[in-house]
Amino acid sequence: MTSPETPETLDTLRRVFGYDAFRDGQREIIEHVVAGGDALVLMPTGGGKSLCYQIPALVRKGTGVVVSPLIALMQDQVDALRALGVRAGFLNSTQDFDERRVVEAQFTTGELDLLYLAPERLKLAATVDLLDRGDVSLFAIDEAHCVSQWGHDFRPDYLTLSGLHERWPDVPRIALTATATEATRGEIASRLQLEQARHFVASFDRPNIQYRIEPKTDAKRQLLRLLQSEHKGDAGIVYCLSRNSVEKHAAFLTENGIEALPYHAGLDAGIRAANQARFLREEGLVMVATIAFGMGIDKPDVRFVAHLDLPKSVEGYYQETGRAGRDGLPSTAWLAYGLQDVVNLRKMIDGGEGDAAHRRRQGMHLDSMLALCETVECRRVQLLNYFGQSGEPCGNCDTCLTPPETWDATVPAQKVLSTVVRLDRERRQKFGAGHIVDILLGKKNAKVIQFDHDSLKVFGIGTELRDVEWRGVVRQLLAQGLIAVESNHGTLVLTDESGGVLRGERKVMMRREAERPAAKAAKTAK
Ligand code: ADP
Ligand code: ZN
Repeated sequence: MTSPETPETLDTLRRVFGYDAFRDGQREIIEHVVAGGDALVLMPTGGGKSLCYQIPALVRKGTGVVVSPLIALMQDQVDALRALGVRAGFLNSTQDFDERRVVEAQFTTGELDLLYLAPERLKLAATVDLLDRGDVSLFAIDEAHCVSQWGHDFRPDYLTLSGLHERWPDVPRIALTATATEATRGEIASRLQLEQARHFVASFDRPNIQYRIEPKTDAKRQLLRLLQSEHKGDAGIVYCLSRNSVEKHAAFLTENGIEALPYHAGLDAGIRAANQARFLREEGLVMVATIAFGMGIDKPDVRFVAHLDLPKSVEGYYQETGRAGRDGLPSTAWLAYGLQDVVNLRKMIDGGEGDAAHRRRQGMHLDSMLALCETVECRRVQLLNYFGQSGEPCGNCDTCLTPPETWDATVPAQKVLSTVVRLDRERRQKFGAGHIVDILLGKKNAKVIQFDHDSLKVFGIGTELRDVEWRGVVRQLLAQGLIAVESNHGTLVLTDESGGVLRGERKVMMRREAERPAAKAAKTAK
């Protein structure tokens, strides 16, 4: 075994990878693993996690086995390593029998430094057998948050990884992730039996990213304004929730003279790969994508990440926005979200797969995301706090640059809740936010007349606010848990918290929705 002070690790960094020095944290982690220790590594996207297991794999005798869910990237990763002269191979379901045989033979005869493995292969007795026949120097578990049922990206195959330690107790293990709250970290440690492992937690602060979240009014126009006024000619990613929305927005940008490509799981694999390759290779392309795009993508000069729909969790949001500005230069993380996002996501959760506990967890993830959207504090501090870290107001996010005013929305809130109470009796109908706002504004449209809602006491009592303002009030009531979306029809209903507001025991403060000029907040604008 090598002593921790040996320069062999630094030598490998320079000789094989061509870098001069380790980044923050890397040296300690690498030396710990080289010396045979177990590690749990938390490092933001782009922090340089790969070297933390690649160098120990090169320094230690035998083959480093890397478990990764990113099957689509394995070929690229292995090619990149081979180009550096590292003996690497992979085993996953995309290969045929003969291709696998070749890699297996290389492994058992000790001709591999690194072997990438899809997690589902570890379920197979044949794989366990294979690993027994070779000489494993370490196990690296990439994207380790996938083992957490509490997390946002659970993969059942990861549960089999708990057996690694029992089967090969002397082989060091390093688990890595870019996203984990303290709760998730605890779960990773216990499921992978890494309680005794050293935990390395890098800062999650990304000072060069300017976080901005604004209410969605006209998503297309808002996006276009952002790209034209602040990110002309820049490479960036636009995330949408649905495939349809991806296609629509890619076409829209192209029509408006911005070169944009679509990416989603419904596209032919060849087109997807080609679009991804163009995005990586060419300059100034915009990728319009579902969250299927981006895992493991290493493009340093992504200048903006725009979300046109609300992410399902803060973890997801952090990971997706983290793809901006990996080169350390000023970049924008911009999100537009509206009432309908909240309604859609709630419905998706309630109607989705999994048991009640799973749905409750997803609901809590969404609540945290909403809290981030509606906060009047520094966004970056909120993000750091979410991951159990602290920070000072950044002076660069939208809330720091344009501190939102708050206003006492108790009376409007009571009006909305009173309307909801009255409609609650007709639960079999879909009465969404739009209908409630119509009643408050006293609009005699077809639906109002059909249900005789113009005879309600609340009809027309809300003329002090405009339509968009009412929708903002409803959205913030949802975000604050003062109303909820009933799953069957998407009807708005009261929550346990609503009573206090209706009885006048509780004040409701809201963010004032300034119609702020797009470029004003941007230090980074060019
Ligand atoms: P992560 O997996 O944490 O997202 P990567 O391992 O892909 O990050 O590393 C991100 C980028 O940083 C890669 O291009 C990698 O080659 C580069 N990198 C990593 N460590 C160093 C270093 N010590 N010096 C210079 N570049 C590095
Ligand atoms: Zn801030």
